[in-house]
Amino acid sequence: MTGATPWTIPSVRSSLEARKISAREMTADFYARIEKRNPELNAYLTLCPERAYAQADRIDALLSRGESLPPLAGVPVAIKDVISTRGVRTTCGSRILENYFPPYDASAVERLERAGAVLLGKTNCDEFAMGSSNENSAYGPVRNPLAPERVPGGSSGGSAAAVAAGLAVAALGTDTGGSIRQPGALCGIPAMMPSYGRVSRYGLIAFASSLDRIGPLATSVRDAAAVLRAIAGRDPNDSTSAGAPVPDYQAEIEKPVKGLRIGIPQEYFAEGMDPAVRKRVEAGIGLLRSLGCQPVELRMPHTDYAIATYYIIATAEASSNLARYDGVRYGLRVPGTTLLDMYRKTRGRGFGPEVKRRIMLGTYALSAGYYDAYYLKGQKVRALIARDFRDAFSRVDAIVTPTSPVPAFRLGERTADPLQMYLADIYTVTGSLAGVPGISVPCGKTPEGLPVGLQILAPLFGEARVLQLAYAFEKAGGSNV
Ligand code: GLN
Repeated sequence: MTGATPWTIPSVRSSLEARKISAREMTADFYARIEKRNPELNAYLTLCPERAYAQADRIDALLSRGESLPPLAGVPVAIKDVISTRGVRTTCGSRILENYFPPYDASAVERLERAGAVLLGKTNCDEFAMGSSNENSAYGPVRNPLAPERVPGGSSGGSAAAVAAGLAVAALGTDTGGSIRQPGALCGIPAMMPSYGRVSRYGLIAFASSLDRIGPLATSVRDAAAVLRAIAGRDPNDSTSAGAPVPDYQAEIEKPVKGLRIGIPQEYFAEGMDPAVRKRVEAGIGLLRSLGCQPVELRMPHTDYAIATYYIIATAEASSNLARYDGVRYGLRVPGTTLLDMYRKTRGRGFGPEVKRRIMLGTYALSAGYYDAYYLKGQKVRALIARDFRDAFSRVDAIVTPTSPVPAFRLGERTADPLQMYLADIYTVTGSLAGVPGISVPCGKTPEGLPVGLQILAPLFGEARVLQLAYAFEKAGGSNV
């Protein structure tokens, strides 16, 4: 965290209730911080002060009438720019949507606002959430607030940087293969991917529909739990959203962790991990052991295939989802002499190199001659990876791994080699393919002072378990382990 003690959801609430600050003043204070710090960090792409102050005034009116406040009253939040906001520009980090103003709010946004949160603005991200460093944004990279010559991670890099720099109390990100957890790890904050279906995807602009999830980034596990509680639950507008009841996560996190069995999969501790990361993660596991958790060695034999499987399935779905940007229905249109010429020019200029690479890879994997060899095979391996998780969870209550094999890398260090960039997701894509929930929680720092993240995964709809372990870990001093 940079600067003074960060605001948290409880401290915002108690300050409002004690009339130490109004919601309007709180909002203004955050905009002042953003004005100061954002030119360097590039975390926000668009601010929406009108909407924010209108909401703050509603909270102040509740206060002045002595009415009770909703759970996130006055809490300044940031929204990743792949999530639709009515009347507020939503670019997906892409030129093709540079001037796109959605006509409706995503359900997660609507729920946050209904819970009283104040939407400050939209945060930078890799184009269409494709990336691990935020360097694939058409609007320039985001800098890591803890080490400005380094990346914040991606693709929810703007959300992670905004929270870590104190430019929002919490943020929404999206995670398809690691994009909430990995930037959370690199920026030193808790960041949670809920189970597939736990949070409605209505209004989330699709990258890979069978993998995409919305989740919170915050400065404490308790705050992440509060935001998740506000956005989770069945939504008639998303038929893949789950009907399972939403537990009271803030109450659940208090449960003792003593006696929980935590699986340590051998495959996640093979070569390729930065030795400094390994050291901290091993210390983190030691801390969980000292809390009474019982480490259990596991094998998850299909882990090695996860990156290949993810990059076939995600690109296949992306190639199909991104077909809608045709210069007719949405966003950019570059005129051409024929319809085909218009398509070519629009998509040629509108999409950046990584998005084009993925559309080509995905189209190839889905093409008639290769469908069985790539896409269908990928789906089969995905089922095997999910089975690894089911088998593991028959023996353990949670799985603990590093979040990222490396701490925050330097801007530009990995951009020349897409494969190197893809390997940043090696520990996160498995949980994505399996649909299970996971969090990254701060787990000490490298000797250079760069944060390390510990990933905690639990069975489907086991968000409470994930948060409970992360909370105990955080409370026991995990961020300094
Ligand atoms: N880094 C991964 C990718 O580029 C994951 C991105 C994500 O989770 N949105 O696909």
